[in-house]
Amino acid sequence: SGVLNPLKTINEEIYSFADLKQKEIDELKKLEAFRKEFIADVSHELKTPIFAAQGFVHTLLDGAVNDKTVRTKFLKKAAKSLDGLDALVQDLLTLSHIETGQIKMHFESINMYALTEEVFEQFENKSEKKNVVLRIDGPPAKVMVYADWQRITQVMTNLISNAIKHSFEGGEVVVSFEIHKKSVVTYVKDSGEGIPQEHINRIFERFYRVDKSRSREKGGTGLGLAIVKHILDGHNTRAEVESTPGKGSIFSFKLPRAKHEKHEGTEHIESA
Ligand code: ADP
Repeated sequence: SGVLNPLKTINEEIYSFADLKQKEIDELKKLEAFRKEFIADVSHELKTPIFAAQGFVHTLLDGAVNDKTVRTKFLKKAAKSLDGLDALVQDLLTLSHIETGQIKMHFESINMYALTEEVFEQFENKSEKKNVVLRIDGPPAKVMVYADWQRITQVMTNLISNAIKHSFEGGEVVVSFEIHKKSVVTYVKDSGEGIPQEHINRIFERFYRVDKSRSREKGGTGLGLAIVKHILDGHNTRAEVESTPGKGSIFSFKLPRAKHEKHEGTEHIESA
């Protein structure tokens, strides 16, 4: 008959599952474990700012609202938690878009120098507040690479944001390029606290932070470098890190040098 038998469907699935090779089964199990762990991590990360905001709002409702200084203080704290929640959801969406391939990579010749200048503009206020100088080292030449403008802008935004965040007051963030025959290496260097050696291999994992409470305090989502890793994966490359605790860190990545110098950075933005 044409009646759908759910049991039969399940059995068929079990049979087809049995056809899989052991290796594929292991792979599926690993994915399943990864998925579960991811959901657990995300739930925990979401709970932290929600719990904080909830606490401040309920304390206000319980009477703190009548005291003007306490009121302002608690509202500010609640707002900060909600801003953190917003940044977290934004980063999660970015990660999921990259993973599901919803944003197709769009490779073309892009000017890394122009791209860096644009990213620096975004951070003018933040760096001035911290008295951190943003500088591009090297001639303002066309540093052309073959890459996705939007995605590499995201990579540079995350690296530069981290560099400023972890810089000492009065320090500087320097971007430089090493131009080879077939590739360009971009360096983002900060003069800041650095990263202890034993953490370096783990900082690209989602939600991994060297100093949990301080990172949250600084507005970090713990996803910045995971996003960087994903995007660079999509460009068949990876970030390298060198760091000296107490002195600073250098993040770098290599991209293929573009043969045809078709686009200026800003031209591209308008057409995107
Ligand atoms: P977060 O949102 O916490 O900054 P990231 O994924 O961007 O998350 O970075 C992960 C961790 O790596 C940070 O919490 C910080 O401990 C460390 N880190 C990243 N960049 C730097 C840097 N330039 N200097 C020192 N530590 C850094």
